[in-house]
Amino acid sequence: MKFDGFETLAIHAGQEPDAGTGAVVVPIYQTSTYAQDGVGGLRQGYEYSRTGNPTRAALEECLAALEDGVRGLAFASGMAAEDTLLRTVLSPGDHIVIPGDAYGGTFRLVSKVFERWGVSWDAVDQSDNDAVRAAIRPQTKVVWTETPTNPLLNITDIEAVAQIAHDAGALHVVDNTFASPYLQRPLTLGADVVVHSTTKYLGGHSDVVGGALVTSDAELGERLAFHQNTMGAVAGPFDSWLTLRGAKTLGVRMDRHSANAEKVVAALEGHPAVSHVYYPGLDSHPGHKVAERQMRSFGGMVSFSLRDGEKAALKMCERTQVFTLGESLGGVESLIEHPGRMTHASTAGSPLEVSADLVRISVGIESGDDLVADLLQALES
Ligand SMILES: *Cc1c(COP(=O)(O)O)cnc(C)c1O
Repeated sequence: MKFDGFETLAIHAGQEPDAGTGAVVVPIYQTSTYAQDGVGGLRQGYEYSRTGNPTRAALEECLAALEDGVRGLAFASGMAAEDTLLRTVLSPGDHIVIPGDAYGGTFRLVSKVFERWGVSWDAVDQSDNDAVRAAIRPQTKVVWTETPTNPLLNITDIEAVAQIAHDAGALHVVDNTFASPYLQRPLTLGADVVVHSTTKYLGGHSDVVGGALVTSDAELGERLAFHQNTMGAVAGPFDSWLTLRGAKTLGVRMDRHSANAEKVVAALEGHPAVSHVYYPGLDSHPGHKVAERQMRSFGGMVSFSLRDGEKAALKMCERTQVFTLGESLGGVESLIEHPGRMTHASTAGSPLEVSADLVRISVGIESGDDLVADLLQALES
């Protein structure tokens, strides 16, 4: 029989009881090097922990299984994963298409670092397939997608954009951080590489920074592993262990994140102080039909605009009691923030500028009733 349900893989893939001791949980192999039986006589393939470490290897195998890929690689941060991927697949003279509202760190990496090395780029609204097609040039080697996006939760049709990228001979990369593999599996829809900030939902407890790449192409997986070892931005053993521990409960956490977000959205939608709610689970969301097709449920990220503008938005962020005012997302605890002044302050004055009346929340897995009550008191007080 094949036991390959998502929750089973999350708990068991790459995580056989320890061969030496029977320990049920993969140990933290906090070691830099490994004894050899004679010169070159490696006991289990490990020689040095930048190249390979058993705790990291368990996480990498688990992540590959969760994304339905053939190779997973774990990094010190989401940005380290992105940098390693782009240095593996791009050369001077190449071109990359990124989302118009790309994660700020991704935009900074492409526009401030890769541009200096002769890589050109275009940022386009990827909820519009024609806009993606129009941005492709003969030099385009990568189409980079995020869905849902941050902070407006725009949706890209992964299957359609993978096809557009492949027709142009380009790779299709999806940053799957916001959805997590439980809600959406881009490789099964045609994407070539999935990127994660495991800092967010995969780790899930706001106690570790990490990143990952997963690919469905074994040959590309080998090239990525070569660059991972060459550049060396690997996840350490303890960080790998924390992330693996988090991943075990991803399914139950995501179900609760989505259910709580739906409760919160229902309460915000009818509220007189709120002028608009951005959530792909709403029928009125322009990406709803595509999201329904490619996502299991709609996740824990919600944004909304306040009728009374920036002052009301700032006030609300400072009045919640269960929602903590802070950046980041995807942890068990609920967070609230003002994108215009916090996560997206660097977009001020650019075409990507975020409206000042906007509030973003990462809906956690506390009691949904408490979360709704907290937001309502913060809006009313
Ligand atoms: C946080 C984040 C990243 C960067 O990850 P780090 O772990 O902070 O380096 C990349 N993409 C998205 C969508 C993110 O939210």
